[in-house]
Amino acid sequence: MTTTIIGFPRIGEQRELKYATEKYFRNEINGEALADFGKDLRKKHWQLIQEKWINLIPSNDFSFYDATLDTSFLLNVVPAALETIDLSEQDKYFALARGYQGEKGDIKARPMKKWFNTNYHYIVPKIEATTAIKVVGTKIFDEYLEAKALGIDTRPVLLGPFTFLQLSEFEAGVDRQATTEALIVAYKEILTRLADLGATTIQLDEPGLVKDLNQADIQEFEAIYQKLLADKPLAVLLQTYFGDVRDVYQTLIGLPVDAIGLDFVEGIQNQALVQSGFPSDKTLYAGVVNGKNIWRNDYQKTVALVESLNVSDIVLNTSCSLLHVPFTTENENFSTEIKQHFAFAKEKLDELLDLDAILSGKGAEKLAQNKQLFASQRFEKNEELSQTIAQLTQDDFTRKPAFSERETLQTARFQLPVLPTTTIGSFPQTREVKQTRAKLKRNEITQEAYDQFVAAQINDWLTWQESIGLDILVHGEFERNDMVEYFGQNLSGYLFSQNGWVQSYGTRGVKPPIIWGDVAREQAITVKWSKYAQSQTDKIVKGMLTGPVTILNWSFPREDISLKESTYQIALAIQEEVLDLEANGIKIIQIDEAALREKLPLRKTDWHDEYLDWAIPAFRLVHNKVQPETQIHTHMCYSEFTDIIPAIDQMDADVISFEASRSNLDILDELQRQNFKTQVGPGVYDIHSPRVPAVDEIKQTIQTILTKVPLEKVWINPDCGLKTRGIPETRESLANMTEAVKAIREEL
Ligand code: GLN
Ligand code: ZN
Repeated sequence: MTTTIIGFPRIGEQRELKYATEKYFRNEINGEALADFGKDLRKKHWQLIQEKWINLIPSNDFSFYDATLDTSFLLNVVPAALETIDLSEQDKYFALARGYQGEKGDIKARPMKKWFNTNYHYIVPKIEATTAIKVVGTKIFDEYLEAKALGIDTRPVLLGPFTFLQLSEFEAGVDRQATTEALIVAYKEILTRLADLGATTIQLDEPGLVKDLNQADIQEFEAIYQKLLADKPLAVLLQTYFGDVRDVYQTLIGLPVDAIGLDFVEGIQNQALVQSGFPSDKTLYAGVVNGKNIWRNDYQKTVALVESLNVSDIVLNTSCSLLHVPFTTENENFSTEIKQHFAFAKEKLDELLDLDAILSGKGAEKLAQNKQLFASQRFEKNEELSQTIAQLTQDDFTRKPAFSERETLQTARFQLPVLPTTTIGSFPQTREVKQTRAKLKRNEITQEAYDQFVAAQINDWLTWQESIGLDILVHGEFERNDMVEYFGQNLSGYLFSQNGWVQSYGTRGVKPPIIWGDVAREQAITVKWSKYAQSQTDKIVKGMLTGPVTILNWSFPREDISLKESTYQIALAIQEEVLDLEANGIKIIQIDEAALREKLPLRKTDWHDEYLDWAIPAFRLVHNKVQPETQIHTHMCYSEFTDIIPAIDQMDADVISFEASRSNLDILDELQRQNFKTQVGPGVYDIHSPRVPAVDEIKQTIQTILTKVPLEKVWINPDCGLKTRGIPETRESLANMTEAVKAIREEL
C-alpha cells in the first residue's frame, strides 16, 4: 500500500514560523529574510516526511498566514483598494490578513471565519465587481520546484474551485456564472503549468462537499469539474475531509478524476458509501488516521475498516491536514505510561507506516502492542460523578424566573445608563505579564511577588477603566495564560502539553489541554482575583469564566466517552465556580462560550441531535442556580451564528457580546427578525487588528446597531478580549469607544 498525508503543520516544531513572522511585523527582519526562513522550514518538513518513508508528499500546504488567502492571491482575488496602495506584494498579503494602517494608507483586514468545524480560521475571499480572476501568484509553482530541487517530487495542494466559491463573499452585482467560468479557466491554467513543471498529481481540496448540498450546488460542482477535468494534463486527486460526502458520492465517482480522498474518521457514512461501490479505475485515499485528535490510532479497528472497504487501490491517508494537531510528542515531559497514548503529527506518520505494514501482513508485533495499549485502563473512574449526571432532571437545566422578569429586577438593581459600556475580559498580556508568569513557573520569584504583580496590574487597569468612564469593569485576566488552560489547571482529569501548539489563525496558536480522565473542580479557580478586583472599586467588576462547551471544544477530547458526558462533567465543575463567585459578592458573571459554534455539525440535519441538544443545556446547567438579580453574560467569538439564533437565545443568558465588526453587523438583521430576547453587545470594533478605530467610525457603527436593536437591549464593547493587543492601541481604542458612546448619549 501507499501512504500520504493531506498536509503538515506549518508553524514548525517550536513555532519558528510564528516568531520569524512576528519579527518581520516588528521590522526586526526584512521580507527577504522571512521568505528564506519559510523556505528552510519547508525543506525541513519535506525531509522529515520523506525520512519517515511516507511515499507521497504534498507541497503548497505551507502558508505564511492562511492557505485560503494564498489562493486569493494566486487568483488575483484582492480588493481594488489593495491594488493601488504602495506596498510590496508580501505586505499587501499581510495587509489583507491583519489590516494596515500607516503612512501609505489604511486597509481593513478581511473578515476571518472558522475553517469548517475546526479552531483554525481562514481569511474570507471577496469577489468584487471589479475583480478579474487570473493566475497571478506563483507560490504553488515555486514550492513545487523548490521541493523538486531537493529531489522530492511532491503533489501540489490547492483549495478547489467549488469550495473557494462557497467560502467567498460576493459583492452585490457580481455575476456568479462569469466568476465561475473565469475560475475554471484559471484552474486549468494552474494544472497545465504544474504539469509543464513536471508535477504528476494535484490535490484539490474540496471540504465544501461534506456540507449539505442541494441540487443546484451539486450541479454547479459537477459542471465545474467536468470542464476542469476535460483534457487534464495531470492526475487529479479530489480530496474531502471533516465529514462524509453522502450528497455527492454518486456524482463524485462518476467524474473523470483519478483519485478521491475521503475522511473515514469524521465521515462515518463514507464507509457504507464506498462499500456500495467504488470505481476500479480510481484510487481511494482513505483518511483513517485522525488529523484532529491526539490519541493513538486503534490499529485493530482501522485495519478492519480498511479491509471492509473492499477497494483494491488504496492510499492510506490522514483524515484531514495534520495542521490541526501539534508537531511531535518528542518534546513533551509526560511519563512513558502516558505518552504512549498520544500521537501528534510526526507520530501519525509512524502510524501510517505501521498500518501499512500490518495491512501487508508484516506488522504483527505492532498490532499486538497497539492492542495491549487499548486494553489497559488509563485512570480510575469517578463513579459518583457519572451517577450525578445520570440523575440530572429538567430543573437542573432551567433558570428561574423567566428572562423578562429577571431583566426587570436587574435593571432596577444595576441602574446603568443607556448603552452600558464594558469590555470582554482580558487586557494586553504584555511581555512583562508573560515573563512574570514564566518566572513564577521557574521559581525565580515567589508566589507573593507574583501576586503583588498581578494585583498591581489589576489596580492600574481598574483606575484607567474608571478614568475613561467604562460602566462595567473587568479585572483583566492577567493571571491567566489561556482561557481554557487556566481552568483545566484547576480541574481534575486534565493534562497539559509543554509544546502542543496548533495554529489558530496567522501567527496565533493555541495549546489545547488534553482531557485525560473524569473532570471535577478541585478548588476555587477565579474567586480570589475577582473578589480582589471588586474590593478595589465602587463600580461593578464582572466575574470571568470559560463555559463548558468552550472548555471542551478547545481541549483535545476523550474518545472513550461521549462529548456530551464530558461536557456535563465540566459544566458541573463550572457551576460550582459560578455559585462560589456569587457567594463572594460578584454581581455580574460572564461565562464565555467563545467556541460554541465550533463543533456544530457541518450538516444542518445533524445540528440538534448531535450537538445543540446537549451543548445548550450544558450552558444552562452552569448558571441555573444563581439568584434572579445576578446577571449572567456570555460571549461568543465570530458572529456566524445567524442560523442558530434561537439556540443562542435558549442559553438563557442575560447579556451576550459577540464579534460583529468584521462581518459588517450582518447578524443584527437576524436578531431583529427572530426577536432575540437576550440583551446584546455586538462588538463595535475589530480587536484582531492593531488598527485604532476613530470616534466617528465607532459612532457610525453604534448608530447602525441602533437601527436594528432596541436601545434598551444594547451594550457597547469591543468584539473580543484584548489580550493579544498592545497597550497604546488598546487604550486609544477604548477611549474612542467611550467617547463615541458619550456623544451618542448626548444626541439621544
Ligand atoms: N474573556 C476572554 C478574553 O477577554 C474571551 C476570549 C475569547 O472570546 N476568545 O480574553
Ligand atoms: Zn471572543
